[in-house]
Order: sequence, then C-alpha cells, then structure tokens
Amino acid sequence: MQKIANYINGQTVASDSGRSQPVFDPATGVAHTEVSLATADETRAAIAAAATAFSGWSQVTPLNRARVMFKFKALLEQHRDELAVLISKEHGKVFSDAQGELTRGLEVVEFACGIPHLLKGEHSMNVGRGVDSFSLMQPLGVCAGITPFNFPAMVPLWMFPIAIACGNTFVLKPSEKDPTVPMRLAQLLSESGLPPGVFNVINGDKTAVDVLLTDPAVQAVSFVGSTPIAEYVYATGSAHGKRVQALGGAKNHMLVMPDADLDQVSGALMGAAYGSAGERCMAISVALCVGDAVADALVAKLQSEIAVLQVGPGTGVTPEPQMGPLVSSQHAAKVRSYIDAGVAEGAVLAADGRQLAGKTQGADPDGYFVGPTLFDHVSSAMKIYREEIFGPVLCVVRVPSFAEGLALINQHEFGNGTAIFTASGEAAREFAAQVQVGMVGVNVPIPVPMAFHSFGGWKRSVFGPLNMHGPDGVRFYTRMKTITARWPSGSMPTGNQFSMPTMK
Ligand code: NAD
Repeated sequence: MQKIANYINGQTVASDSGRSQPVFDPATGVAHTEVSLATADETRAAIAAAATAFSGWSQVTPLNRARVMFKFKALLEQHRDELAVLISKEHGKVFSDAQGELTRGLEVVEFACGIPHLLKGEHSMNVGRGVDSFSLMQPLGVCAGITPFNFPAMVPLWMFPIAIACGNTFVLKPSEKDPTVPMRLAQLLSESGLPPGVFNVINGDKTAVDVLLTDPAVQAVSFVGSTPIAEYVYATGSAHGKRVQALGGAKNHMLVMPDADLDQVSGALMGAAYGSAGERCMAISVALCVGDAVADALVAKLQSEIAVLQVGPGTGVTPEPQMGPLVSSQHAAKVRSYIDAGVAEGAVLAADGRQLAGKTQGADPDGYFVGPTLFDHVSSAMKIYREEIFGPVLCVVRVPSFAEGLALINQHEFGNGTAIFTASGEAAREFAAQVQVGMVGVNVPIPVPMAFHSFGGWKRSVFGPLNMHGPDGVRFYTRMKTITARWPSGSMPTGNQFSMPTMK
C-alpha cells in the first residue's frame, strides 16, 4: 500500500518513524493508503529547511513572489477536478462541494497575487521639520500551519499563500485523516517555481505539533481545529514566544423571525445544516424559532425535504447525492451517540439519521453514513444544544421573542457564525449590532467572509487577536518596522537637542 510521508526542501521524503495510520475512503470504509506519523527530528528537519530558505525567499521582490502565486493559481484551476476527487475520496464530501472548497481556497491565492499592493506600508512626510516617517511590513521567518480534516485544501490555503507571498517560509502539518491533497498542493507549488524549502509538509500528530509549537526557529503558528486543541496550541505557542492565531469549534445559530419567508428558511437550512454532512465550522446546527407557529411550520417543511434528501458517495453516482458520509467510523459513532443522547434527554426526534433506509443513493453499508437528523423542542440545557456535534444534526429551539433568541446566542460559549432570517431591517440591524459572534448573516445562512475580508469567530471559537486571510492575514504574517529619518540639510538643527524633533 502506498505510504504518504513528508515534503521537505522540495522533495518527498520517506519517514522512518515506524508509526503510521490508514487513510480511509469514508464512502466505503476501505483503507486506500497509509500516512506516516513524523518524528520530532523529521519535523525539525522541515523547520531547518524552511529556516535556510528564508534568507533567499525574503529577498525575492514582492512582484516576483506574486508571479509564483499567479502560476500556482493557474495550476490549481487546471487540476481542480483531480483535487476535488481526492478531497472526496478522503473527506467524503460530494464532488461539487469539494470543487466549492477549492474555489474558496483559490480566492485566497488570488488575494495573495496582489501582495505588492498589500505590502506598500505607510509613509508620512514632514512629521517634524525635515523629518519623514515610514513603515515597512517585513516577513517573520518560518511560519507553521496546523489544519483540520474538514477542509483539507481550503484551510491550508487560508494560510500559506499569504504567508509565502509576504516573504515567509512555511511548514504545514495537515490532518492525518486526509493528507493526500496537501501533498499535491506542495507539488503544484514546486511546479509554480517556488524554491525548495519555502513550503514543506510534515504529516503527523501531536509529536510533530509539539515541535512546531516549541522550536525557537518557528516565529508564528496558525491553527484551525477543535477548541480544546486550539486553546492548547495558543497557550503553548504563546508561552514559547510565538505569534499564534488559533481558530476553534462552533455551534452556529439561525434566528428565524415570524416575518421570515419559511420556504427560503427551509431551503437555506437544508444546505447549511446538512451540506458536507454538517462537518463545517460554519454549519448551522441550531434553528431558533421565534414562536411555536414558526417552529411547527418550519419543522414540517424540513421533514418533507429530509424525506427526499439523497445520501450517498461523493463521486461515481449520478445524479450527485446532496450529502456524503462522515470522515471516519469513530466520528460516525460519536454523532450517533449524540442522537441517542438527544432522545434520552427528551428532545423530540423529528427525523432520525441513524436509519438511512429510503434515502440512500448507492451508499455502501460499510461507509460512514449518518443521515440528516432533526430534533425539535431542544432546550439550552441539553448536551445536543451545548456541545459541537459536527455532524448532520439540526436542533430546533423554540424561543418566545427576538430578545430571548439573541440572549441565548450571546450566552453560548462559541461565537463563530450566526444568521438571522427576517423581512425587518430594524430586527436585522439590531441583531448585527448586538450579537456576540464574529461572522453574521442577514438572510444568508453561511456568512463566510470572502478572501479579501478576514475570517474568524468570537469567544471560545478563537484564540489570538488576528483572524485568517484578508487584511488580518497580511498583518499576521508580517511585522511592522517604523523608520523616522532626517537627512542633513539646512533644516537640521545644530547644538544639543532636548526637545522632540516633531515639536518644531
Ligand atoms: P482537531 O482539533 O482534532 O485537529 C486539528 C489539528 O490538530 C490536526 O492537524 C490534528 O492532527 C492536530 N491535533 C489533534 N490533536 C492534537 C493534540 N492533542 N495535540 C496537538 N495537535 C493535535 O480537529 P479536527 O477534528 O481535525 O477538525 C474539526 C474541528 O475543527 C471542529 O471542532 C471544527 O469546528 C473545527 N474547525 C474550525 C474552523 C474555524 O474556522 N473556526 C474551521 C474548520 C474546522
């Protein structure tokens, strides 16, 4: 069986760790490859390659660094379908969704193509008589990225195009569940003309992560994954003097007002709750319905849509199913156990995803499928409400008013994304102003900011002050140096100077 190892200094390098794990096709449960889990020394070798490459790469002009990104963009477009199949074969999401993931990643590469403009810095002439002040945005050095299983292309692409375009070098530690696409991205970067050592991939687990968090050569760490690991990465990396941005888990609510168009709400919720089998950090997992009439009507609509939703493999079936499998048998078992817990806690199970009968489209019985699940009459005390399930489970919570819905959202420990569906500009405006969440949709169910804006939540969905990509991405991967300069001239004062030059 093929074994995926590491990509260091422009080459695929086998691992001699002796530790590896299978990589499964979630639609069949068959292991098609294996991934080595790197040693600490192998991780240090990747960091060393990146540190060596930094002196040359940081001196390449921003224009020429952007030209590498333009070539990389063209190669990503050329290989988009091949990459989408690979995503589907290891993550499980359906082909068109995998294409969408690549498009969102590609948009960050397009943003990074504009790096000469983004690194222009600031300049003030005559801050004092004959004194000018200007700021440079300089690269940091070696940056590391640690990424989750649910977007094996898009989340790495949130990070390294901007880091590299800013003049840094990079070590990526992707999820061990779907490592093939990150390795393909490394090859495509090399084909784009990126010098060896600028981008490296280490496949591994906590052993590799801990080296990235503690090695003195690593200047900055970007992390996306679950909240407990995000918190650990933030604390450990920060304690070792690194700049850290760590994005964590989510429980995203949609507030449905009585004046909302319920056909639109139901259509939006089907995709937002069940697309990618709910394995999206911006999936909607709670519908807060204002009033029983809204909840009764919405649950009925969702039930009839769920009855015809097709679950099946991400590739090879026509027409394409709307929902693929979950990523692993363990995760499917965990999601099923949450459904059991919801029933035990007294929530009303309006659609039971533990039974796939009647909705499958070529779903292999050995695949990790869990069908769309709908709970009604969920209370905020229940485990299925409090915790991130990260599967196709939607909870309907009934609230008496806008104010109580807003309060529930604000009390939740997570604050990644949210949405309000309403015809009222006043309600939408109040919601946007008061809600304690980082990304907010108004009649938009999954309000993921575009590449030229920044992505990030609030509360325990994020650790660290700067978000991913957009302007924050450029700030995160550069440090500012401000120079105040005066050149000998007639305005240069003579004698001892005891007052600030800008006072004159
Ligand atoms: P995860 O936290 O299990 O793993 C993320 C990364 O951390 C992986 O590379 C993994 O190898 C590494 N890791 C895991 N355990 C570790 C440990 N003990 N020490 C050091 N490193 C460790 O997350 P996942 O299951 O791959 O991804 C799903 C989670 O990611 C969900 O909680 C989801 O909400 C979150 N997510 C958040 C965002 C966001 O933007 N906020 C985006 C995507 C996913």
